[in-house]
Amino acid sequence: MHAYPDGNVFYRRLAKPLPRIVRGDGCWLEDADGKRYLDACGGAFVACLGHGNAEIAAALAEQAGRVAYVNGTAFTTDPVEQLASELATTLPGDLDHVYFLSSGSEAVEAALKLARQYWIERGRPEKRKVLALSAAYHGNTLLALSASAREHYKTYVSDWLVDVGRVPVPCYRCGCRADDPTCPTCTGTALDAALEQAGADTVAAFIAEPVGGSSTGAGVPRAEYFRTVRDVCDRYDVLFIADEVLCGAGRTGTWWAIEPFGVAPDLMTMGKGIAAGYAPLSAVAAPRRIVDVLATGSGALLHAQTFSFHPVACAAGLATVRILRKHRLVERCAELGTVLHRQLAGLTALPNVWTVRGRGLLAGIEFVEDTKIGTPLPRALRFAETFTEQALAAGLVVWPNVGHVDGTRGDLVMLAPPYIVTEAEIGEIVTRFAAALDRTLAAVSVAAR
Ligand code: PLP
Repeated sequence: MHAYPDGNVFYRRLAKPLPRIVRGDGCWLEDADGKRYLDACGGAFVACLGHGNAEIAAALAEQAGRVAYVNGTAFTTDPVEQLASELATTLPGDLDHVYFLSSGSEAVEAALKLARQYWIERGRPEKRKVLALSAAYHGNTLLALSASAREHYKTYVSDWLVDVGRVPVPCYRCGCRADDPTCPTCTGTALDAALEQAGADTVAAFIAEPVGGSSTGAGVPRAEYFRTVRDVCDRYDVLFIADEVLCGAGRTGTWWAIEPFGVAPDLMTMGKGIAAGYAPLSAVAAPRRIVDVLATGSGALLHAQTFSFHPVACAAGLATVRILRKHRLVERCAELGTVLHRQLAGLTALPNVWTVRGRGLLAGIEFVEDTKIGTPLPRALRFAETFTEQALAAGLVVWPNVGHVDGTRGDLVMLAPPYIVTEAEIGEIVTRFAAALDRTLAAVSVAAR
């Protein structure tokens, strides 16, 4: 166990003791005491091919031995070019050029800056505002955090953030209870009203996750939602940025979560699973019609990061994409997703479990005080955190999330098992989940409803 101030590292949660992981194999992790954990969330929606993949490890070693680093202002390399080409064949619409970075926050920062620079170079400098959903997480650097609706992360830095307009989040705790076919929030027409209010001429971009990640616990908007978003953005000359950092790279059963909506964004961000966790890698995808404006204008995107276009990270990404293709793992996400959601549906019969949401191998399970009307649990109970600790004690790794109801209240956990998970392992996840819930209810004082 590591517990601050032992050793010389300080982790984010200073009071939390951390088991020391010494090896991983498929969906399983093992700590220094020999305890095994079923990794049901790939760490943070990242380890999508599981742990200990020798093929990716070899690709990393091979590239590191050849050339580990050159800067993208001076050179290009094979893994960068090849990964961009492979990804381009999967991308929706006219997205066909890719800018590589390291983290999801960096990709979101770069996409928003690209949107702003695009409008300036197109002679529309008044287009500078950004709109995002009322439940949103797009990262933790200051611009990405500004676009996020996660109030507790903003506590000490709110003076440094920029204003981002809010559009009500669709199909999650909406007053229409998903019943009203004309509901502006759930159909997407609320974006129209938000743009009118903000002054559409001043808006550069609208950013949203096609399938909610930690912001809504895998909330899936209605089929027509992004068609409306596309129409409205086209009508008002606003760039639509799809943030696929969490939901992309095959997890929801299609290469990109936007696909089933039948539209394409103007810009797309990706990260987490694109290198399966074997290296930090993220990217912004853009079409020529946008990049050409910069190419024929200032000649450069004004966004510099030392580790962009990292050859070793891109080698890991290339190996990941090739493995996804070779073993038809995106299709497997759709198939195993059906199994996962069938089994998880049974959890709603358990105390304090309100809903199970999601698509493919992405699921959110929300805990509430009253399951009839979805009243959030008192935050002071720290239900999601306690559940996660109990799950870990039961050898199950899940991703907790709080604050999605109103920026502060809300308790949910998410599952995002590696795409190689077996049906037997899914059964084990559900069994350990139920055991962790029993232990949580015993540990916190909450009326079971
Ligand atoms: N966008 C979404 C949708 C995310 O879920 C996240 C992280 O969870 C980010 C962006 C930021 O990614 P990172 O933590 O790699 O900076």
